[in-house]
Amino acid sequence: MSPARRCSRTACGKPAVATLTYVYADSTAVLGPLATYAEPHCYDLCAAHSDRLTAHRRSSDDLEALANAVREAARPAPAPPEPPGTEVGRRGHLRVLRLPDP
Ligand SMILES: [Zn+2]
Repeated sequence: MSPARRCSRTACGKPAVATLTYVYADSTAVLGPLATYAEPHCYDLCAAHSDRLTAHRRSSDDLEALANAVREAARPAPAPPEPPGTEVGRRGHLRVLRLPDP
């Protein structure tokens, strides 16, 4: 079972109810029901964000937000965060980190 799908908008994180699929060939974004699989060029949206997208159809702000969103969604997954430590040494490819005191 995959983890719950979340809205792809930065700092949103609400449960996703719709999927936006961007078809590069047609430069078209298609908003539909939540896709079964998370695919590249698909972008999950919560109710609020999908409503907003369809309610203000073709407003330039939303088109720009959409373009940004698709760019974000198409980006490869970010690298895992650095461990919370201070580098205290390095030997070849090995880094020594000291974790902060709890
Ligand atoms: Zn959202």
